Amino acid sequence: MQAFAYRDGVLHAEGVALTGIAGRHGTPTYVYSRAAIEARWRAFDQGFACLPHLICYAVKANSNLAVLGVLARLGSGFDIVSVGELERVLRAGGDPGKVVFAGVGKREDEIARALEVGIRCFNVELVPELERIHDVARRMGARAPVALRVNPDVDARTHPYIATGMKQNKFGIPADEALSVYEYATRLPHLKVTGIGCHIGSQLTEVGPFDDAVAKVLDLVHLLRARGVEIEHIDIGGGLGIQYRDEEPPAVHAYAELISRRLAGQVKEVLMEPGRAIVGNAGILLTRVEYVKETPAKRFVIVDAAMNDLIRPALYEAWHEILRVRRDSDAPVAECDVVGPVCETGDFLARNRAIVAVQGDLLAVMSAGAYGFSMSSNYNARPRAAEVMVDGAQAYLVRARETVGQLLAGETTL
Ligand SMILES: *Cc1c(COP(=O)(O)O)cnc(C)c1O
Repeated sequence: MQAFAYRDGVLHAEGVALTGIAGRHGTPTYVYSRAAIEARWRAFDQGFACLPHLICYAVKANSNLAVLGVLARLGSGFDIVSVGELERVLRAGGDPGKVVFAGVGKREDEIARALEVGIRCFNVELVPELERIHDVARRMGARAPVALRVNPDVDARTHPYIATGMKQNKFGIPADEALSVYEYATRLPHLKVTGIGCHIGSQLTEVGPFDDAVAKVLDLVHLLRARGVEIEHIDIGGGLGIQYRDEEPPAVHAYAELISRRLAGQVKEVLMEPGRAIVGNAGILLTRVEYVKETPAKRFVIVDAAMNDLIRPALYEAWHEILRVRRDSDAPVAECDVVGPVCETGDFLARNRAIVAVQGDLLAVMSAGAYGFSMSSNYNARPRAAEVMVDGAQAYLVRARETVGQLLAGETTL
């Protein structure tokens, strides 16, 4: 399905022209396609149809309530990393019984709130966390469901900032310590050990590392079983990559087939935590060209979106396709850097890109549905962008543009 395509020379999101969205809601604005999000979620659901499974969408990829609500209505579970994300899921109508809670720094209040609402499972990343969860559960008279997140020490072959499953990373419990930690956990009366998991990184474009990680986790399941520790679920994490440029990430069904074959008959249920693969290509960032600046060295297309709106190019040197929303004039293609107004040389959305862009043009930064708005900030006192979700021929404002008044609301002078 093509969520974003040209019709009569104008780029549309499903049935809605992006020119209309910019006219009504201004720029910069994130635009999401409901149909694209649903299609990707269903691809995972169908891919794993032969196994009991639970898709726990990774909320940090895009935590807008409308995105979470659309997924909740499909029956999705959620992978969260903070109590703020938990409250978002609840507000969007998500089922707390389908929530898994990851992250290396869970606070007591976060653990207590998660226990209170009855989440599915804590994915535990270190022994002191296990002890803290046990303490909080004891005080609440509860029994906390836990799974260990093991670090399988496999190279995800992705950008180093988003590789998480190697022994030098802060995530997970080293695989060779996992057995003793499990034995310890089973002796803590306010814990219920239910599963095992891993998450080796993000934007993986090969299946090999997934296969290696799952094989290592399965080895542990067998060892634990031999010692009388029954593991009900395996959580394979997220990380499946998407196409930004010319990557060729595995198709969801190929990924699902490989993992299903490995896991068939091995555990009661498989959990997964896809984020980017569900929303990445389902969103764009709509921005307007404020100026074109020619210097002896370069041509700069200065737009009204910046690194505070979309940090991926600055943070990971990520490549996003830039499309001109209205393909009308015959202005020449010229190589340029597409930059924002922020006072940093790292403030670029694209570099050395041969495109047509003149003052006043609308541009679409493609594949911005994941780690776009959710990583945005107020740097340079810039209010955050608006967010719109398109559903067929309708566009809904799902987050109003922030105002300067909102930015200043919590602050005082001496
Ligand atoms: C970020 C994260 C994910 C999602 O990663 P994607 O690459 O967006 O699929 C899943 N699980 C955990 C624990 C994460 O930290």
